[in-house]
Amino acid sequence: MMKLQSFRFKGTAISCPKIQSCHRQQDLRGQTVAIIGLGKSGIAATRLALARGASVVAIDQNQNVGSLLEQNVAFGKDSVRTILGDFDGELLRDADIVVVSPGVPLQNYGLASLLASGKCVMSELDFAAQALPTCTEIIAVTGTNGKSTVTTFAGQMLNHLGIPTFVGGNLGVPLSDAAFECLTLSPQRPFQVAVVEVSSYQLEVPNSYFCPTVAVVVNLSPDHLERHKTMKNYAMTKCRVFSHMKGNKIGILPPGNQYLLEALRAHMHDFNPAWIGTCPGVKVSMEAKVAKLKVPAIGCDSELDLSALKAIGMHNYINAAVAALSVTGLDIGINATSIDSTISKLRAPCHRMQVVRIDNNGVTWIDDSKATNVEATYSGLMGVKQKAVLLLGGVAKDTKMQGLDGFEHLVEPLKRHRGVITFGSSGMMIQKTLYVNGVTIPCLNTKHLKDAVCLAKKIAQQGDAIVLSPGCASFDEFRNFEHRGETFQELAFSLQ
Ligand code: ADP
Repeated sequence: MMKLQSFRFKGTAISCPKIQSCHRQQDLRGQTVAIIGLGKSGIAATRLALARGASVVAIDQNQNVGSLLEQNVAFGKDSVRTILGDFDGELLRDADIVVVSPGVPLQNYGLASLLASGKCVMSELDFAAQALPTCTEIIAVTGTNGKSTVTTFAGQMLNHLGIPTFVGGNLGVPLSDAAFECLTLSPQRPFQVAVVEVSSYQLEVPNSYFCPTVAVVVNLSPDHLERHKTMKNYAMTKCRVFSHMKGNKIGILPPGNQYLLEALRAHMHDFNPAWIGTCPGVKVSMEAKVAKLKVPAIGCDSELDLSALKAIGMHNYINAAVAALSVTGLDIGINATSIDSTISKLRAPCHRMQVVRIDNNGVTWIDDSKATNVEATYSGLMGVKQKAVLLLGGVAKDTKMQGLDGFEHLVEPLKRHRGVITFGSSGMMIQKTLYVNGVTIPCLNTKHLKDAVCLAKKIAQQGDAIVLSPGCASFDEFRNFEHRGETFQELAFSLQ
């Protein structure tokens, strides 16, 4: 590991027939773009393709998404052919470009063989990057946990410093909308920076144009294995974010993660590595509330005062420090001194260790509904100073088939807390796992989140915290993690 810090990564090229370095182009007149998946990203890609002059074949399995497309695409509607439900694969062969939304795996619709045959198959992210102005610098943020927070913090730092910045990608607004805006609405005033959250699904199709100035993998732990199957594949996919990064470009990584280090060797890159927790990179001292930043290539060496940060948990101090390192790594004249003034203004997105209220009994209610895997819950729990009653449950992700850590990982940090209430479809399994592994605090199981909250309220003592950090997906009871978090927040105020 120490050895790797001192040289620039070099590896072999991944198969990618359309590489034209980071050249960005816009004009698609006379071409047909097939867009598969008409969620937020697919609709944004449709708008962008039309603005670039293409004809679009818009495809989705779901028969009900037609009206959404209709409502959200204004310009160039006549150039869109919409196909909902089953469709003939020939359509894809006839298209000049196939754009795949993140929700569509490459196994579907023969996409993998189409890609292998040399057809231009692109992710929505790459399709957007192809059309972004060359003067827009990209910070890309991926990883298992902390992507949204690092992306949000970096975006807030830049915006507070007056840099015209787009913040989005997997979080909020798709990158295609940023490209659309630069192309049609404000071509004279493009974004100077785009801070882009990138999910592993968005990296499944090898990218050719998406080439960040700074790319971060915040961390890597078991998640999304139903789609990627193995940790090796998951790491390989994540490391695509570094593809084609050369020269002064900076890759920020956690040290010592074997999956990531192995994956890096298999990608084409020649970037400057920076590390989370060591040098060059960023080191956070929680006692001093200070981050030491050492940016490779640029050579900047500085200290960032994090004492004004209003976010709970060591992981959020790391997230803020990584965001600062990314912003400094752009080499656009921003240093730790300028970032200092933004720290007190940083706000983590909702449902990430969000303090909902301190009730009349002095109990702090914390919503960490976005913690959808065990590692995220672990980090959340480590950040709670009070004794906590932890609400744990929903649909657990299957890490066991990989022989990887599960809920037993929480037994140790739970020792100093008040209790655990498990709930949801995996509640009993989680309770059993904690008992089998020697949990030392009371651990009760209930059916629904509401029952769990009622119980937690009975158990919590003055000065304690009630923490929803479920370590599971939410789909057994809720539409998504936001719905789960909102329900918890309502209960925090309504339960007597
Ligand atoms: P993502 O976008 O990757 O899902 P978020 O920023 O939304 O990440 O945070 C999701 C959850 O992950 C949080 O609720 C928190 O519990 C945990 N988390 C956030 N940052 C980190 C980090 N740097 N390391 C480990 N866990 C983290």
